[in-house]
Amino acid sequence: MDPITTLTLRAPDDWHVHLRDGPMLKAVVWHTIKQFRRALVMPNLTPPVLTADDVHAYRAEIQDATFPTFEPLMTIKITDRTTPEIVRAAREAGAVAGKLYPEGVTTNSEDGVRSFWDLRPVFCAMRDCGMILSLHAETPGVFVMDREANFLHQYVSPLAVSLPGLRIVVEHATSAAAVRLVDEHPNVGCTITPHHLYLTLDDVVGGALNPHAFCKPIAKTHRDRDELVKAAISGHPRIFLGTDSAPHVIVKKECASGCAGVFCAPVALETVAEVFDRHSVLHRMEHFVAEAGAKFYGLPLNTGQITLRRETWRVPEDLQGVRPFMAGKELAWKSRSL
Ligand SMILES: [Zn+2]
Repeated sequence: MDPITTLTLRAPDDWHVHLRDGPMLKAVVWHTIKQFRRALVMPNLTPPVLTADDVHAYRAEIQDATFPTFEPLMTIKITDRTTPEIVRAAREAGAVAGKLYPEGVTTNSEDGVRSFWDLRPVFCAMRDCGMILSLHAETPGVFVMDREANFLHQYVSPLAVSLPGLRIVVEHATSAAAVRLVDEHPNVGCTITPHHLYLTLDDVVGGALNPHAFCKPIAKTHRDRDELVKAAISGHPRIFLGTDSAPHVIVKKECASGCAGVFCAPVALETVAEVFDRHSVLHRMEHFVAEAGAKFYGLPLNTGQITLRRETWRVPEDLQGVRPFMAGKELAWKSRSL
């Protein structure tokens, strides 16, 4: 049988992206809007998006830098100071999720949560107004390879059981443990990034140090990576694409204290297509990139389509001062702009 040469999909959603603000927003947002109709925009700016007013202001900044066809889905950052009133007002301002970072686990999380269980009234308010709890699921201070599994066990499982009406997303799942947990709890979903479908810790530190493959949570073992691939291509109803595209200028990656984050937006659909193609399940890609997430969030599916063609091209080494995922490598699929 001849290989498929064209793939037409419902216009996709990115359920986790860092669009930044100011000049960086203007430099990188194009890579997201050319492939995604909607994107869940993370709130970890400095200063962060904390309240309804911040949601309005950040949405306006994004809309100013994009086209009306692109819909930014807004989030607030949940901190120890978040209250049920803040949650309700943010929801009314259109925020669809509250993002919780434990203290100090990744970029701009110094003001992250210290007292998870004290936030129960906030979680209840999120449940009651239909806001998703979006989690950076790592326990600070635990050995780096075990942080995700530890957080799932300590916090996510008990919370999912005690508040079955709260919808929870484990963001950028990196481990077999995360996939298992999603299976066990009908109110828990997870996003998987394009890069975690490829990378293991070997790609970061197995040979020469590669700061551009360094992200949080860190890429893990071959077994973890393979379980993520299996989960992504499985058609699971609660597992969907969230790129976690997180651009940092090259000097902030290649230095003594390099930032965590992979800039994968420029190659998001193409790299995902390669994975589905390799497993001969391209027909399931639409579910992963355009359907499962919207259904979990309770949002309508996008109308419109995007087309990818089988076409070899080389990923640029540098895009607006940021090194993209797969820089310098050849990819087998090329996506047309939405
Ligand atoms: Zn992120």
